[in-house]
Amino acid sequence: MRPYPELCRLTVIELTAMLKRGETTSAEITQAYLASIAAQNGTLNAYLDVFAGPALAQAAQSDERRLAGQPLSPLDGIPVALKDLILVEGHRCTCGSRMLADFVAPYSATVVEKLRAAGLPILGKLNMDEFAMGSSNENSAFGVCRNPWDTTRVPGGSSGGAAAAVAAGMAPFALGSDTGGSIRQPASFCGVVGVKPAYGTVSRYGLVAFASSLDQIGPLAKTAEDAALLMGVVAGRDPRDATSDGTLSTDFSLAVPETLEGITVGMPRECFGEGLAMPVYHAVQAAAGQLRAMGARVVETSIPSLPYALSAYYVLSSAEASSNLARFDGVRYGYRVREYADLDELYRKSREEGFGLEVKRRIMLGTFALSSGYQDQYYLKAQQARELLRHEFGQALAGCDALLTPVAPTFAYKLGEKTDDPMEMYMGDLYTVPANLTGLPAVSVPCGHTEEGGVTLPVGMSLTGARDGLARLLSIAAAYERRNRPNAGLHPYEHLRKGGEGA
Ligand code: GLN
Repeated sequence: MRPYPELCRLTVIELTAMLKRGETTSAEITQAYLASIAAQNGTLNAYLDVFAGPALAQAAQSDERRLAGQPLSPLDGIPVALKDLILVEGHRCTCGSRMLADFVAPYSATVVEKLRAAGLPILGKLNMDEFAMGSSNENSAFGVCRNPWDTTRVPGGSSGGAAAAVAAGMAPFALGSDTGGSIRQPASFCGVVGVKPAYGTVSRYGLVAFASSLDQIGPLAKTAEDAALLMGVVAGRDPRDATSDGTLSTDFSLAVPETLEGITVGMPRECFGEGLAMPVYHAVQAAAGQLRAMGARVVETSIPSLPYALSAYYVLSSAEASSNLARFDGVRYGYRVREYADLDELYRKSREEGFGLEVKRRIMLGTFALSSGYQDQYYLKAQQARELLRHEFGQALAGCDALLTPVAPTFAYKLGEKTDDPMEMYMGDLYTVPANLTGLPAVSVPCGHTEEGGVTLPVGMSLTGARDGLARLLSIAAAYERRNRPNAGLHPYEHLRKGGEGA
């Protein structure tokens, strides 16, 4: 890999300030990112598609607007990248699946229209686990994406490409999707900030559905303040998405407090027990100490039903997926086998060849959970567990501004380490699924590192807040970050160079 431009190390806040002062242009920033992608994507495989020409054209238009003194949005000219399950009209949208390898989006997602209206050039589409099912990006039909801190490790998933791209300076920030942790867990594995907004905050029109009662679009960024800026563009009620919620606040201009005086942070004891890797435990405990040192009151809380969250999530998400993915039948969308005897065989063979193993596993699991005679035992029980969790989170948050937990029980693991054992892979979602089941907002923030065999790997902490409390969560995270940026000055690229990655 070759060195990439200095501009790609800066935060979005820094870039917007430079644009304002006339020290750079959108064209220059976009070119720098395209150069960074060209230099690194061969190794990392974070992008599935790069929109070089259109991005440069959009950048040039932004520069013209600025020169002409036209009114500009705060992010005008800052490029952004998208997980490849968000539709951009006229471009391929693969969802990491062979099923959609050649599918061209007939329209753009609402978030894409909003990004366009705000003047952000779109750099391209990012690698992911097939249909967002997975935690390591190893379920992509288009090859694994690698962790920029250690290319023998996974970037996390399913928004692995998004996290790797932001961490490696291949996108200033990106949009991913989170059904059970897919923004937050890769953010934690790659040392960036990941935000799962409250259910209904961001329109899902034009987002390919995985589990409709859980899916949310959200940002991955270098800092909480950068993520907040992107939230400011994409949040808001959309009449084209019946689940979007107009009562939620869309104001993400952060007031970042100097201290955390008056803030109470709860630590659910169930999140710090068995199965938690020691370096993660220590990093999150250290973060609790830092929050305390900044004036926060840190207390122990409890979510007694937490042990049921994972099973409830896998039953409900698979049930919904089995229904959502019924539309991929070889007739209306995507992959179709060439030879078939009759319509039934066309369905069967197209799905057999178009879907990967994990997607098939979820469809079978979901179909089983919904089948007559079993629905009460599985689907209904899972709904009940979901209700319990909602209630318990509500109670815990009544006395706290945020709940502090690990994002994942481990740091980034080796490629192939968990692919043979789906259950073990699922276990990694233990701490992230509750926010989806309850609909609450949660952010993943880098809070430390671990040294593994001479390699530095990032560790993240998670903050979960009240339903309309995302801006508050982000300001707590931003206040923390101003004192503790474990990644500042420690860039994955330096690390790769030290490791002697081939040029
Ligand atoms: N890892 C979880 C799963 O495989 C979450 C995925 C997601 O959030 N899209 O279902």
